[in-house]
Amino acid sequence: MHKLFGHDDRFLLQRLRSELDALGIPYLVKNEFAGGAVGELPWQDVQQEIWLLDEAWFHKASQVVVGLIDCLADPQTGAWVCENCGENNDGGFDICWHCQHSRPT
Ligand SMILES: [Zn+2]
Repeated sequence: MHKLFGHDDRFLLQRLRSELDALGIPYLVKNEFAGGAVGELPWQDVQQEIWLLDEAWFHKASQVVVGLIDCLADPQTGAWVCENCGENNDGGFDICWHCQHSRPT
C-alpha cells in the first residue's frame, strides 16, 4: 500500500475521499475514528491518512491531491500546503519544513 495523503483537516480529507470515490479509486482511511482522542495524543498521531490500496492509481490520485491543495493556497498570507506530505507552510518558506519538498509553483 502507498500513503497518498495525510492531514488534520477533516473537511479537506472528506473532499479528497469524495473525489476518489467519484473516480473509483480504491483507498482506505487510517485514524478515521481517532478524533475523540485529541488532547491525549500529539496531533500527528490522530491525523487522518488516505492510503491507496492499489499503487497503479497513484499518479491519478496525486493529481486529485494537487488539485485540492491548489484550492487551499492562501494568497493573502502566501501560506501554502506541501504537495508531498500535506504539511502547512508559512509564506516565507520555499521548501517544506517537514519534508524539504519544494514549494509548488
Ligand atoms: Zn512536505
